[in-house]
Amino acid sequence: MNDIFEKIIAREIPAAIIYENDSVISFLDIRPTNKGHALVVPKQKCENIFDAPVETLANMIRASKIVAEGLRASLGADGVNLVMNNGAAAGQEVFHAHMHVIPRFTNDGVFETPKHVAYDAGESDTLAEKIRAVLSEAATD
Ligand code: AMP
Repeated sequence: MNDIFEKIIAREIPAAIIYENDSVISFLDIRPTNKGHALVVPKQKCENIFDAPVETLANMIRASKIVAEGLRASLGADGVNLVMNNGAAAGQEVFHAHMHVIPRFTNDGVFETPKHVAYDAGESDTLAEKIRAVLSEAATD
């Protein structure tokens, strides 16, 4: 069965479409964090960053820049957040890859209380080594 974004791409359900090209479509999020909050969605279905071809991700970023410039020019946004939730643990609800492009306005109070954690002494070095080991293997693939 088609997911909700495939239905929007196929025009089976309505959406406030703001941009489209051969590889992506962009429309306003139905539950916006700020007015003008847009999603950039690849037309070729993939779930998230883990199964997406690099070219698909590149197309999403290209379009996100276009949409970000558009939000700045049309709404007077002072900035934008690009957010991609990948996996249920990261808050992903729709399992068709998408980039959130969220317009931000000075002192708008969105994302006001970010959570931070602290490393124990030496922990970040150990962790970096663990990650580097996997990445250096991946680089030789
Ligand atoms: P995520 O948590 O990253 O998977 O976000 C999915 C986003 O899709 C949420 O912000 C929803 O509000 C949005 N969304 C779900 N259905 C629709 C729809 N029919 N039209 C526009 N946005 C939608």
